[in-house]
Amino acid sequence: MSTPPLPSVEIIPETSQLWSASLQPAGCPHCGTGFLITGDPAGQRCPACWKANLAPQPARLRPEAPELVIPFPRTVRDFLPQAQKFVQPVWLRPDDLQAERLIQRAVPVYLPHWLVDGRVKGDWQAQVGFDYQVQSSQERYTGSNWQVQKTVETRIRWEPRLGQIERRYENLATPASSAANALLQRIGAPDPRQSKPYQPELLQNALVRIPDLPPDSAWPAARARFEQAAAESCQVAAGGQNIDQFRLDAEYHALQWTQLLQPYYASAYRDDDGRLQTILIHPFSGELSGPRLASTRKAWVVSGIAILIAVILLAIGLIAAPLSPLGILAIIFGLVTAVSALAPILWAWNWNRHQTPFLTADQPR
Ligand SMILES: [Zn+2]
Repeated sequence: MSTPPLPSVEIIPETSQLWSASLQPAGCPHCGTGFLITGDPAGQRCPACWKANLAPQPARLRPEAPELVIPFPRTVRDFLPQAQKFVQPVWLRPDDLQAERLIQRAVPVYLPHWLVDGRVKGDWQAQVGFDYQVQSSQERYTGSNWQVQKTVETRIRWEPRLGQIERRYENLATPASSAANALLQRIGAPDPRQSKPYQPELLQNALVRIPDLPPDSAWPAARARFEQAAAESCQVAAGGQNIDQFRLDAEYHALQWTQLLQPYYASAYRDDDGRLQTILIHPFSGELSGPRLASTRKAWVVSGIAILIAVILLAIGLIAAPLSPLGILAIIFGLVTAVSALAPILWAWNWNRHQTPFLTADQPR
């Protein structure tokens, strides 16, 4: 099985205008992520790491415009209620973790996928599973008499099959960006049924991630998609309902690589230590995801105030009037306040323990 001829990428100078949309290549000097951007890159924070502004730079990519684009269905302002719901459970939050700021900072970004067409020709073998039903009866004693319960169970009969396949598949989507795995966990796989043929207006000033998985790097994943599609075809052709241990020895012909762009919003906030934490906003549901860190600094301040109040109450109780009813009350309240003073710190520590930082392959740790 040899690797079929794959299209190569070109060096595109930073002054180029791409895809009839005044898009220019730019990159992040901190994390190295490349973007296509309309307008001045120097005025745009990198929406991958948030640590530097973009700078014009040449890029390695295929110059053709994408075939399909999934347009942003709604503006990010529509998602303010979702942002409020997202920050609301964080009791002591950093000053910057506010719904309004997350929405203001949100940047529309497109994630590229390869859409691969091609013809598969070769030999296959697999275990094909055929469903059949077995009726059984169970006898159960209900306290006064025995009852017979009939159940129908579906089982699978496996049979070895082999054959030849020659078939063309179209638009098999496979990631063109190394950040795709981390991103797709949060925004889900693209649905090509939501896409439209590319037009420059569809980009709406969004940034486009430059594919950092060129066809030769993306080919193993694309071939796996072909094998998966071929397995489904062979299962249907064999008349089975299941397939396992599918093996394909095939050659791939007439491969065509185009691109599909999938939208998402990237935003961020500064945590207690001044680090920008990435938050993603789902372009369809508006659901926000990412680490919602509590402010441990605020927790210490609240705990500190509570301890101070406890000390004052205990001092009043013990020194001023230890045996008076007021003194006893002061001691009781002082002890209760002292015990509960640790709660904010413990809460913040426990809350942050359950937040997972958003990391993609292109973010230096
Ligand atoms: Zn960056």
